[in-house]
Amino acid sequence: MILSRVQAEPGISRAELARMCGFSEMAATRIVRELLAAGIIQESSATDKAKEKKKHVGRPKTGLHIVKDGLFAVGITVSAYHSEVSICDADGKLCASSRPENVPLGDVVDAARVYAEALRDLIEVSEIDVNRIVGIGVALSGRTLPDRAEIVTSDYFGWANDGGQFCREIQKIIDLPIEIENISNALAIAEMRFGGARDVADFTLIHAATFVGAGVVSDNRLVRGDSGISGLLGHFRAEERPLTCVCGRHDCLNLSATGFGLLSQLGKLEHRAFDTSKLSFYAASLLDALDDPDAAEFVAEAGEKLAPALDSTAKLLGPKMIILSGYLGTNETYFASVKGTLERHFDYDPQGSFQLVKGTISSVDAAALLALHAFCYSDRLDYDRFADAPEQAHGVTHG
Ligand SMILES: [Zn+2]
Repeated sequence: MILSRVQAEPGISRAELARMCGFSEMAATRIVRELLAAGIIQESSATDKAKEKKKHVGRPKTGLHIVKDGLFAVGITVSAYHSEVSICDADGKLCASSRPENVPLGDVVDAARVYAEALRDLIEVSEIDVNRIVGIGVALSGRTLPDRAEIVTSDYFGWANDGGQFCREIQKIIDLPIEIENISNALAIAEMRFGGARDVADFTLIHAATFVGAGVVSDNRLVRGDSGISGLLGHFRAEERPLTCVCGRHDCLNLSATGFGLLSQLGKLEHRAFDTSKLSFYAASLLDALDDPDAAEFVAEAGEKLAPALDSTAKLLGPKMIILSGYLGTNETYFASVKGTLERHFDYDPQGSFQLVKGTISSVDAAALLALHAFCYSDRLDYDRFADAPEQAHGVTHG
């Protein structure tokens, strides 16, 4: 609680901290002392603070800040667009990243090994002390059970239940705690803690790329549903198309409001059924189409198809905000079309209803932020592992 509060409000005083967390000042001070000793937070002197802000002249006070390079988190983004491994600092800023090429996405274990080796190399090159890394975040298109570090299923990659193999393979190479999460949920968590949804208790994030999915936050908590099944927006019933969804149907939203639907409309698909061996082709073709002015009317048409699902979502959940994320979701033409369709056909008025906004965090950044959320700014912070860091207590930086 204290650490999260310091991160959200840099420069906060011990007294304010105690009041906002509902602790006595003495209790807060004791916890602050431990976090200072572990090199996780630091205290700026009154003069530093006076330089930053010229008000508060009468009452000299010291402010608390996160030590940016006190702790780190690392991430693996499993994607047919841009596979990425990355490192972020304790404030969620990206420190280093690399893009492993030709990841064998057809096999869970092979893919895990390639990602883990790329991440291990990145940590080595960046010279970050592995003992200051809180954990690994993994974001992918699929249903997961984070508590068991398990992939339940990924229709997108064509993976069945992996029994935890993916994460075990990574931990053979990098022995750190892992949090594995669906990409929409990972993005929702990242937006909630570090992005545009910081003060928003109820919102829905819609991730639109080759397919579409959703992450739902209600009362500051991620809604997972039974066995992590929530957010299957892509299988909402829509108009029938001459295409076949991964679920076998011909009328899923995945076939019209998405990159896959768009490519079909553009005549880029030689086949009708979604094919997991063509993920890279879908990804590259969608990115090309989004750069092609001649494709704009079809991009807008895909956006129109998404609007009814947003209307239903808003009526069911009453979110304060709906965030469109992903390569397609943040495209200006697509976004404007979704918004325009809501206004024209669903009486959408941002004043009296939810705010419709574009995501502020990219898919490739979400994985490391997920790890930071899970293992730094939560009760899963392994304080004892970081407490014994005498050089940190004197403000010596790593790397
Ligand atoms: Zn479907």
